[in-house]
Amino acid sequence: MNIKLSGEGPELSRLVYGAWRLKEDPKGATSQRILSKINTALEHGITSFDHADIYGDYGCEELFGKALSDSPRLRDSLQLITKCGIKLVSEQRPDHVIKHYDTSREHIIWSVEQSLRSLRTDRIDLLLIHRPDPLLDADEVAEAFVALRTEGKALHFGVSNFSVAQMELLASRLPFPLVTNQVECSVMQMEALHDGTLDYCQRICLSPMAWSPLGGGAIFSSPSPREQRIRDVLELIAQSHQATLDQIAIAWLLRHPAKIIPVIGTNDTDRLIRLSRSKEIVLSRTEWFQIWSASAGRPVP
Ligand code: NAP
Repeated sequence: MNIKLSGEGPELSRLVYGAWRLKEDPKGATSQRILSKINTALEHGITSFDHADIYGDYGCEELFGKALSDSPRLRDSLQLITKCGIKLVSEQRPDHVIKHYDTSREHIIWSVEQSLRSLRTDRIDLLLIHRPDPLLDADEVAEAFVALRTEGKALHFGVSNFSVAQMELLASRLPFPLVTNQVECSVMQMEALHDGTLDYCQRICLSPMAWSPLGGGAIFSSPSPREQRIRDVLELIAQSHQATLDQIAIAWLLRHPAKIIPVIGTNDTDRLIRLSRSKEIVLSRTEWFQIWSASAGRPVP
């Protein structure tokens, strides 16, 4: 079951697989290992992969691209998302003296060309501006997006961590729609539900993406009373669905009418398979609010 992000696409899988933690895999980051995770994802209906130029200290795209080049026929079976606009202080980028943002036309185009080379592909299916840049010049970003689309280097465009006002500004300068806003959203981080982010996405008919949908793993390990409370409720609901806690946390996002696309980050293929089945679980309204209340620490007003 795929999902069209906006009226004009692109079509992504209902869950997306994030590459941020590729280098943290205890089983290594060899091409063979990465390819086995790509194949597992594809076999279980996860066809979209989320990257950023900076992941793994500017190294994850390269590792993923190298793995993909061992099996070039796979490229047409999957969608590649990447991001640009953050400049890290890194040995890989000796000219960066401070961590900062750069959404200039020149940098966006340069960054996409780097990503194309690293991922060993001729096109990025979806390009996102990684973070809102206080110096963002919407006309310049629009020029970069139009140039990239005209040359076929990036096919669709979106943003990440943007407020509604920031999205509206950029959208006002573009001749085509932005197709997503990738924001942090989970049972542990519910801000996007209440600050207008998800309402705006629904109003303009685009699907948001949720990063760290399991709280980056903290949902399983954090000893704080809040997380313990969330875990207890998830566990209880999981039992009644014959499911697992992590599946319920993902099903909670999928239940939202904004058609949130969770971007999962596990390196464990068993967990990946299990999470791919979350879409079979439909939470009741009561269950959804039990989880909301456990997270908020109170019932709704
Ligand atoms: P996540 O799925 O919330 O967290 C993944 C972490 O949780 C991994 O360390 C994983 O460990 C652990 N985990 C998963 N299931 C578990 C379980 N059942 N028990 C114990 N631990 C478990 O997502 P994330 O990795 O933080 O982020 C996902 C993706 O979002 C990233 O890869 C990236 O693509 C994107 N992202 C975007 C932004 C942005 O600003 N746009 C920011 C952050 C991330 P194992 O590997 O051992 O399973």
